[in-house]
Amino acid sequence: MNAPGVTTAQVWSWLGEVADPEIPVISVVDLGIVRDVAFDGDACVVTITPTYSGCPAMQVISDSVKEALLAKGIENVRIVSRLAPAWTTDWMSEAGKAALKGYGIAPPVQQAIDISGLHAGIRRRAAPEVSCPNCGSPHTQLTSEFGSTPCKALYKCLDCREPFDYFKCH
Ligand SMILES: [Zn+2]
Repeated sequence: MNAPGVTTAQVWSWLGEVADPEIPVISVVDLGIVRDVAFDGDACVVTITPTYSGCPAMQVISDSVKEALLAKGIENVRIVSRLAPAWTTDWMSEAGKAALKGYGIAPPVQQAIDISGLHAGIRRRAAPEVSCPNCGSPHTQLTSEFGSTPCKALYKCLDCREPFDYFKCH
């Protein structure tokens, strides 16, 4: 049985304390990957859209969500993974973007995503213009498609020379 009288708003606020496993300063809610919270009979159904399909952190995120809700007395949690529509950086809250920057990761830059090009290969998209999270310089260079995790790319600042992670748009 679930804790009686729990509202979806309450669940949302609890999920707001669940940190993303890769970027502990940002919650799964601020990241924008929690898309829906609903009750289905006894089950609390949490719908999550990964930042990209095949994100290796998804299992960890599911476990974290279940653990957090179990700690609040919700034992029956169902995680639904929804791949469409795809996660976009528009879903990331302003607080989330600010937290990323404070953590030394350049927040995602808005860019038009050409859906028709997705199947042809994401690699061919031009690298976005990314500002250095350390000094704010726009003079940065992509050094590796993959940073510390597959969700990030590695950049280098041409002014302060600091390498930094950029949270990729998908
Ligand atoms: Zn810099």
